[in-house]
Amino acid sequence: MRCSRCTTGGMVEIRMKIAGEDVVFHSCARCEAKEWSTEAGPTSLGRVLELARSGR
Ligand SMILES: [Zn+2]
Repeated sequence: MRCSRCTTGGMVEIRMKIAGEDVVFHSCARCEAKEWSTEAGPTSLGRVLELARSGR
């Protein structure tokens, strides 16, 4: 995955499971953009926190 902000270089991907959902955290080492996504597509940090709160 490429950074949508600086469009160069790759992003670091950290996969984790939150409330049974596969969530991927993308972080750009270059511009420090941070993005979250699930299997369904891009998501927001707020949504991820919601998942974490309602999880288990
Ligand atoms: Zn970037």
